[in-house]
Amino acid sequence: MLFSAPLSLYPPEQTAYMQRVREILFSKYSSPPKAHIITYGCQQNVSDSERIKGMLIAMGYTLTDSPDGADFVLFNTCAVRGHAEDRVYGNVGGMKQYKRRRPNMIVAVCGCMAQQEQVAEKFKFSYPYVDLVFGTQVEHRLPEFIYRRLTEGKRIFELSLDNKDIVEDIPVSRDGDIKGWLPIMYGCNNFCTYCIVPYVRGRERSREPEKIIEEARNMVKAGYKEIMLLGQNVNSYGAGCDHGINFAKLLRMINDIEGDFRIRFMTSHPKDCTVELLDAIRDCEKVERRLHLPMQSGSSRILKLMNRRYTREKYLELINEAKKRIPDVVFTSDIIVGFPGETYEDFKETLSLVKEVEYSSLFTFIFSPREGTPAAAMEDPISREEKGRWFAELLREQDIIGLKKQRELVGKIVRVLCEEASSREGYIVGKTAGTASVEFEGDLSLIGKFADVKIESFTNILNGSLME
Ligand code: SF4
Repeated sequence: MLFSAPLSLYPPEQTAYMQRVREILFSKYSSPPKAHIITYGCQQNVSDSERIKGMLIAMGYTLTDSPDGADFVLFNTCAVRGHAEDRVYGNVGGMKQYKRRRPNMIVAVCGCMAQQEQVAEKFKFSYPYVDLVFGTQVEHRLPEFIYRRLTEGKRIFELSLDNKDIVEDIPVSRDGDIKGWLPIMYGCNNFCTYCIVPYVRGRERSREPEKIIEEARNMVKAGYKEIMLLGQNVNSYGAGCDHGINFAKLLRMINDIEGDFRIRFMTSHPKDCTVELLDAIRDCEKVERRLHLPMQSGSSRILKLMNRRYTREKYLELINEAKKRIPDVVFTSDIIVGFPGETYEDFKETLSLVKEVEYSSLFTFIFSPREGTPAAAMEDPISREEKGRWFAELLREQDIIGLKKQRELVGKIVRVLCEEASSREGYIVGKTAGTASVEFEGDLSLIGKFADVKIESFTNILNGSLME
């Protein structure tokens, strides 16, 4: 769905470039040229790609699901793990054949991976058929980059990370029409020692609360039922801004918007999770009762090496405070196994904390050294095989807990967002606020609506019946 914002705050020079590109494309092609976008990585990248699609449509492109026959192909890349980067090099390499068949095709690479100098250099010298390489803070200049490629014939490499004001009112083409992403801030100031994000997304910058409320209101008006607020660390929203609106206040402001919708958010840093925020989650009926609190390790010694700035004890205190203040709160988390210097004893501490908190689900990773981060230079004596054994032990434990958490829902009445038809004829699949999937008998007209469902049983999915 295209949201053509009034382009008021969208830089006038980019609006002009958009117009000129449109004129060139319509004079060059007998039918609208096609654009194909490949997105890797996190929700923030998916949301950025929706803005890139919005700009391309405003320039006259139509979106296509395949590079075949495309006039513009863009890879929006991720730098969080090594194998993600290897896949990108492979897929961009595959563009060589396409370009040979369609020399006028434009091939572009952007996102966190492209933001790294050494990566941009590699595309410059080893991938001569790549036309545009641009970073995470200049995506709004895509019209200019395409215009210069079309008129000057030059390849464009633009990586400036100047942390200036966020560019607003970029046209957005959202992938779905039930659930939507709403970025509230960009960048991160935390510098966890294993993480590349602060180096590729820059310093924290929060959007103006009015712009966020305006976008949320437009999404509700357009029928969105779930709004996911995005930021690398949403808990520090508004930090350093003179408007005095922090994340807890922002949640209350969005919760005050008229309409039947729910609010979710990602990602929270435990060190910035305040009692004020917990109370806002409790008081705001539209906000999900789920807290995604990345723990990363259960060992305070490893948390220090990670520069996470909380201890195991502090983390558990926060979990217990949340349980006390928010009835029915569910927790999810991220865990890294095999951080440099981690011993099996440290790992056992992670395992025991997982047993103590009982997360409804976990995102688990084996440590992946990122060039340029402090952890990449740390001594790392434990073999990949050994880390793999720890990782398997963690997954076994979490599987048991996950099943237990699902079974605890049997007999309860839960509110679900009906998202899609089930593979079983006459059945629907919906998601609880805690992101558990529920299958129940119901008409397709329920899709995109909320429904109250009584959980009857749990097989490989929660089975329920619709409450009339
Ligand atoms: S909080 Fe840490 S892990 Fe998260 S994005 Fe920032 S530096 Fe990376």
